[in-house]
Amino acid sequence: MKIVFATNNKHKLSEISRMVPQRFTLLGLADLNIFEDIPEDGDNLADNALQKARFVHSRTGMNVFADDTGLEVEALDGRPGVYSARYAGEGCSFDDNMDKLLGEMEDNENRNARFRTVIALILDDKEYLFEGIAGGKITREKTGKAGFGYDPIFISDGMNLTFAEIDPELKNSISHRGKATRRLIAFLDSYSQQQKQG
Ligand code: IMP
Repeated sequence: MKIVFATNNKHKLSEISRMVPQRFTLLGLADLNIFEDIPEDGDNLADNALQKARFVHSRTGMNVFADDTGLEVEALDGRPGVYSARYAGEGCSFDDNMDKLLGEMEDNENRNARFRTVIALILDDKEYLFEGIAGGKITREKTGKAGFGYDPIFISDGMNLTFAEIDPELKNSISHRGKATRRLIAFLDSYSQQQKQG
């Protein structure tokens, strides 16, 4: 089965490519010559993921999925959440976002947070959603160089290293995106099985 991952984010593409079995042909937007920014102005993760998947589906008619992810911090009433990408303003860097968040947290003792990913899939013109959540804590400073986004300030439950200090395989095995992607793959497998039988 050929399927498009609707993202221009090379970090996400690299994480998900490691997980998708070879029985699926995974295409990125570059393979389809789509280089423009895909709009994502919904007010929740599912709306944004659907918006991105629908955009590419309407252009190509192909089976496609897209993810939208937010970091939800308890002490900040769930912020930055759906606004994680541009938390520190238009055109901001990963560092700008992390610095703003650490500044807002100050010495708050409640460091609880979670990453939440919603994947929207359009398969044979029908829409499906898959979610993955990774609970953890916000650190007091940035540590590690791997990964992307807020990885240097997030320690997943049961770990003592940030997502930016662990290798991509380990991150995929415990992360929000890894969990949502495993649900997506299980669904695609059972769907293909049913198609063969039916
Ligand atoms: P997006 O809207 O799904 O592209 O993600 C929003 C923002 O969340 C991104 O710009 C990243 O900064 C951050 N983000 C998404 N996924 C991750 C992750 O796996 N680790 C750390 N930060 C992430």
